[in-house]
Amino acid sequence: MSIYFDNAATTRMNDKVKERMIDSFSLYANPSSSHSLGLKARDEIEKCRENIATYLKVKSENLTFTSGATEAINIFFESLIPLDKGTMLLSSFEHEAVASWVGYFKAIGWKVNYVKGKEGVISTQNLLSSITEDTKAIFIMSVNNINGALSDISSLVKVVREKEKEYKHKILFFSDSVQALGKIDCDLSSLGVDGASFSSHKINGPKGVGLLYSKNPSLLHPLSQGGGQEGGKRGGTENTYGICGFDEAVTIWKNGNVDNIKKINKYLRTSLSKLGFTLLSPENASPFILSFSTQYPSEVMQRILNDKGIYTSSGSACSTHKKGKTKEILRSMGYNEKDTTSSIRISFSLENTLKEAEEFIDVIKEYSK
Ligand code: PLP
Repeated sequence: MSIYFDNAATTRMNDKVKERMIDSFSLYANPSSSHSLGLKARDEIEKCRENIATYLKVKSENLTFTSGATEAINIFFESLIPLDKGTMLLSSFEHEAVASWVGYFKAIGWKVNYVKGKEGVISTQNLLSSITEDTKAIFIMSVNNINGALSDISSLVKVVREKEKEYKHKILFFSDSVQALGKIDCDLSSLGVDGASFSSHKINGPKGVGLLYSKNPSLLHPLSQGGGQEGGKRGGTENTYGICGFDEAVTIWKNGNVDNIKKINKYLRTSLSKLGFTLLSPENASPFILSFSTQYPSEVMQRILNDKGIYTSSGSACSTHKKGKTKEILRSMGYNEKDTTSSIRISFSLENTLKEAEEFIDVIKEYSK
């Protein structure tokens, strides 16, 4: 048996993506070269940017290709350093790529406060009660990577725009949207965020490619200075093959059968609840992530499943390097000690099937109460 239910960590590369990347190897010339081969590579990169921009409903000049979401987030934070200091608000359950900046910003004189949300959902009330006259930047992810909780980013941004008027200064709103791309509505123009990050390898694309959206690109400061690529926001020769693969992955996901995953999710929710497992994902969470607790410590249950060929996670793969982070995050969402120490995350891509879900339930039912 081999069931891959760890797609929030990363996904298998789609065969069409592989084909598109192999085709793109003919575009080996440097996209900055002025000869016709270079221009062909440049042209292809710009077509990819245009396609993804159309999908996200933004202008292509607002998109910067990066090496992944972590780099996109890092560029955005780096860009805040020269701005007037103030208070930064973060949800208490941001990914480490965001959360790990807190120490640095405190050290340079910013105040940092956390916004909590029950079960990982930030409500407009939660946010309103945290914003002060001094708030200058807000980071709230759209889909939580541990339990799939969704925050209504569009409503949160509206509240922030009202506060901007009242306080007469800009409040930057960044939403890490890695677990949202292709899975929930990603119309950035109606969401109204100032910045967002995306990653290719979470949607069956290649690793090492990501995207930064910035409503105001002139705000951005590059992390890597270089030859002025990506509008000067990310120096270094572009990853043409990776960008083509990313574009293909976006095309696949924008036409993907999300309803099938909703069906699988519903089946798993019902079956796990009937077996006595506690669900840790809110009812309206992303259908692609389902967390639950068992009577065993996370590591033990994960190992049992692994030995049977079922690949799951206890939370964020990136937190594996920072022990206890997943538990801390689940605690901040209001889950009790037992649930936080015994959580299992299963996460899906468009490739998962109902049959796999049934086989999974067949295995896990032996470990129910
Ligand atoms: N943000 C979230 C919510 C994630 O799940 C991840 C990946 O685990 C990242 C950021 C980092 O993405 P990347 O691996 O592209 O740097």
